[in-house]
Amino acid sequence: MKKLITIFILLFNIAYSKNCTVAPFILNYTINSNIDKLSYISDIKQNYKKLKHLCVNLLAFREGALRWKMLLVTNPKREHGVFWFLPHDNENSAFNSAVYAVSKYGGGFLAVVNNNKRYNAGQDPNRNFSYSRVKICKEQIAPSPIYTNIVFSIIDYYKGASMPYLALHNNTNGGGISILKSSSKVKSYLAYPKSQIIDGKGLQDEDNLVYMVGLQKTPPSSLYKLLKAGMSVKYEIVNSINNDCSMSNFVVLEKGTNNYFNIETQRRQSWVQKEMIDRVIKLIIDN
Ligand SMILES: [Zn+2]
Repeated sequence: MKKLITIFILLFNIAYSKNCTVAPFILNYTINSNIDKLSYISDIKQNYKKLKHLCVNLLAFREGALRWKMLLVTNPKREHGVFWFLPHDNENSAFNSAVYAVSKYGGGFLAVVNNNKRYNAGQDPNRNFSYSRVKICKEQIAPSPIYTNIVFSIIDYYKGASMPYLALHNNTNGGGISILKSSSKVKSYLAYPKSQIIDGKGLQDEDNLVYMVGLQKTPPSSLYKLLKAGMSVKYEIVNSINNDCSMSNFVVLEKGTNNYFNIETQRRQSWVQKEMIDRVIKLIIDN
């Protein structure tokens, strides 16, 4: 009987074991792939049950005075496809949303690990994209070819060629980012009448929006599909004179594409962010 149980457990483990391997170039930066040893990281602790079914790798590297740590999470059933970048470790709802997205749709995400803080020794991870020194990027402390190459080679490795660049962020209630604010550089496109947005429930909340980018004053036609699907959109007009070395600006200026979506929701509104992920992915797949 004991033997039988042992065989059963063995078979069960084989049937349900994950096949978690990483590409050799990523292995160079991988310092830990054991989720149980990584559960000191609060995002992992909070999502432990779901992450157990996914592949989790802690990566680390140095560039100048900065030491970077990042979590690479992929779905072993389908690791290529939809891939997200999460630069801000203080935005915890975005992490929960990313786990949801990868569990449901496959692909993966790369999230900066930084003790639940936004800045790493004074550097905002989302103002750190450049191959060489860019004078105009006031918020970048030093050029970052290593950071930029590692992050984008991982994204480009997992992301399908036709897939957009994707990011997840959280903002604060009525904070600096709002669909009710706009400028000559960042234009707001409202999916709902202003009065409903001021009322602010769920998708209609001023803080819940999708960021798009491009070189042209006229936004890509996909913007109107997002509006139709019930999501307000901020469209940022990018050029080398107003480059801020963010991921979105880098995608436009260096990757030469405007195929980028950043889903921003208010903190602790993961349920709205998940709904927006479903809607954005539906548009990407239907496209
Ligand atoms: Zn953010």
